[in-house]
Amino acid sequence: MDHKEAARHSIDEHREVLIGVSNRIHGEPELGHQEFKASALLVEALKGHGYTVELGVAGMKTAFVARGPKREGPTIGVLAEYDALPGIGHACGHNLIAGSALGAAIGLAAVAKKLPGNVVIFGSPAEEGVVKNAGGKVVMIDEIRKADAAIMVHPSNMWGSYGTSNARESFLVEFYGKSSHAGGAPEKGVNALDGVIQTFNGINALRQHIKRDVRIHGIYKNGGASPNVVPDYASAHLYVRAPTLPMLEEYYGKVQDIIKGASLMTGARSKVTRVANPYANSIPSKTLTDLFRSELAEVGVDIPEEREPRQGGGSTDFGNVSQVIPALSAYVNIGPVTLHSPEGAAMTATEEAHGVMIKSAKALAFTAIDLITKPGLLEAAKKEHGQRLADQAKQSK
Ligand SMILES: [Zn+2]
Repeated sequence: MDHKEAARHSIDEHREVLIGVSNRIHGEPELGHQEFKASALLVEALKGHGYTVELGVAGMKTAFVARGPKREGPTIGVLAEYDALPGIGHACGHNLIAGSALGAAIGLAAVAKKLPGNVVIFGSPAEEGVVKNAGGKVVMIDEIRKADAAIMVHPSNMWGSYGTSNARESFLVEFYGKSSHAGGAPEKGVNALDGVIQTFNGINALRQHIKRDVRIHGIYKNGGASPNVVPDYASAHLYVRAPTLPMLEEYYGKVQDIIKGASLMTGARSKVTRVANPYANSIPSKTLTDLFRSELAEVGVDIPEEREPRQGGGSTDFGNVSQVIPALSAYVNIGPVTLHSPEGAAMTATEEAHGVMIKSAKALAFTAIDLITKPGLLEAAKKEHGQRLADQAKQSK
């Protein structure tokens, strides 16, 4: 049996285990940096397949690095995510990302001692940018960058590996004013809610003058407790997104000026706190895209060649990985529903989704095997990555 057949066989043998892990994570959604059950489940399974696991990496309790047997040769990283969204659970399908990464790990464990290279699974917490210190991959980037390449899949309502994502800042804006009787002594109050309102108004005025593909959006979090009390505290959670980090910094700066202006206008003191770590834009890889497409064909999924990179509007800490090593985050089609919705949460636990998760695990394992056993592929991926970084540096000058 060759390497790929052995990996395929092992993944098929563990099909029910993998679906069980995905369903357990799905059934008990945990927010970023709170994924204690999910990380423990994955760590236990990886240890059972011969991986040496370090849980608690880069100061994050739910981050892990799982290493296969140490061998001479290149190191391929497989990225796992397992955090959920507030309120709607696993509506981004990170349970399936975890299941497919574990599946790939189990498949690769069957051949690890014969491979001329290393396999490392990176358990990366808090991908969703809604919790403090979000972006586990940013925090543990010095671990991840030791690998020669990193691969993962992400559920979607389409197939596609060749794409970019936006760089992003996620931050909390707070205004502090002074309470007063809104009817009896309004002149004695400083309205914190007005600070938030003027911030949104300023952003809306800025919209006429922003470059295409820049996105600024947010929500009110707190706007006072009672109409007859001048609110002394109000807050909003805002995102700024842009196709490159320099452009992100430019617009993030403009929004900071708007916040300062809102503070001057209202007299309410403002405070800005970063929620997530800054996410970088993703660098696409045509080499890894083509390779993954050929691996998908081997598991019965035929998709057309992707010639032009898709411009993605969202953001992910995978972007930071793709800035330091050749990396692939492949969208895998689990059904027609858009994610980040309650319907999306239901879709990430269907039979169809599980079937795609198993195929994804195989395609990930095959990709790692090819990158390790065919040095020309990894070389080509590194060369392309270097070229894209050089182009990016030129463009941002
Ligand atoms: Zn996601």
